[in-house]
Amino acid sequence: MKYINKKLTIEKVSFQKIAKIYNTPAYCYSYNKLKENIKNFKKNFKSISPLICFAVKSNTNIKIIREIKKFGLGADVVSMGELMIALKAGIKSNKIVFSGVGKTSEEIKYAIDKKIFLINAESVSEVKKIERIAKSKKKKIKIGIRLNPNTDAKTLNQISTGKKENKFGVNDKVFFELVKYCKNSNNVDLKCLSVHIGSQILDHKPYQKMLKVINKIIKKSNYNFEFIDLGGGMGISYENNKKKLDYKKYCLAIKKFLKIHKSKIIFEPGRSIVGNIGFLISKIIYIKDSGKKNFVILDAAMNDFMRPALYGALHRTLPSLKNNKILKKTHEFVGPICESTDRFISFKNFQEIKENDLIVICDVGAYGMSLSSNYNVRPKPIELLIKGSKINVIKKRQKYKDLI
Ligand SMILES: *Cc1c(COP(=O)(O)O)cnc(C)c1O
Repeated sequence: MKYINKKLTIEKVSFQKIAKIYNTPAYCYSYNKLKENIKNFKKNFKSISPLICFAVKSNTNIKIIREIKKFGLGADVVSMGELMIALKAGIKSNKIVFSGVGKTSEEIKYAIDKKIFLINAESVSEVKKIERIAKSKKKKIKIGIRLNPNTDAKTLNQISTGKKENKFGVNDKVFFELVKYCKNSNNVDLKCLSVHIGSQILDHKPYQKMLKVINKIIKKSNYNFEFIDLGGGMGISYENNKKKLDYKKYCLAIKKFLKIHKSKIIFEPGRSIVGNIGFLISKIIYIKDSGKKNFVILDAAMNDFMRPALYGALHRTLPSLKNNKILKKTHEFVGPICESTDRFISFKNFQEIKENDLIVICDVGAYGMSLSSNYNVRPKPIELLIKGSKINVIKKRQKYKDLI
């Protein structure tokens, strides 16, 4: 994404052109960025040849998942719906991991029938439920146990998952009990220790700490885990020139760990694969001068893109046509929804803009469309995949008749 002749451009197409053909709000994804991200992710961890399972919850567009599948990735799913999408996108069941704290019997039965690679259980009750269902089907099912390593991921509180006050995983005491329990079970086959300490992690140190904790726990449990699932969480830089995760150091820490434990590593990245491939184009409906500041009211809202309202996340927000006239007044970019949290970002200075201009919100490929809703009976935006100068509609804009 860059300005060419003052026009903001994704691959070889300007957002102006996209909006003219497909209207706004519209999600646009860059195919080549997706490809580059996957290539880089693989390169960063080449020396440990992990199984990479894309976290489907970050972007549930089946066409995107199909592209990701073509690069050989598996899937990490957290619901039956996501499992269905992953299978329909062509991901082989032997590359699918099922995570989540609240899998229902229906979901577990479906996962077992589809012969997925691994179910990562997060409680004693869940292990016993999987065991009961497996027994009724006369099967032995491969499971992992998610450990809560009580490690602070040093990320936003709302997306931290590896501290003891978080609902995820089991503590060390329960973990040891479950290892013992599984050893004596005829219907669950404990293959994996899994962790996932949070999202948007930019510091390698929490990962190092997490590996130290796992190391101790494996030694103490005296059990040979064929797989270690380290989850996802690798952060991206949402702002220019911000800190980047040091993949080298993370990988080095894993290699050190693998010298002691001969396991295969699984990753479940979401954001780091799709976060920066997505852009949301939106049109300015009104500019309202409220004295101290201007409210820039967009046709995109929190129902289309929820991260700012949900986590206070800040995303680069750019005019699709650049000029050099700076307005020295606060501009607050908001949506039309009847909630005060329906705001995206504000700037002390922004370039001169007017009603009907186009605004692009950047890095919305992860937890963008997948978190969208129909709040205020607003149809969901169209999704487009851009490859060079080609634009593919990968999901149509919802119509009012779909909603009413
Ligand atoms: C959300 C989630 C992921 C993906 O996290 P990212 O920050 O998008 O990489 C991976 N594993 C589990 C269990 C998750 O809940």
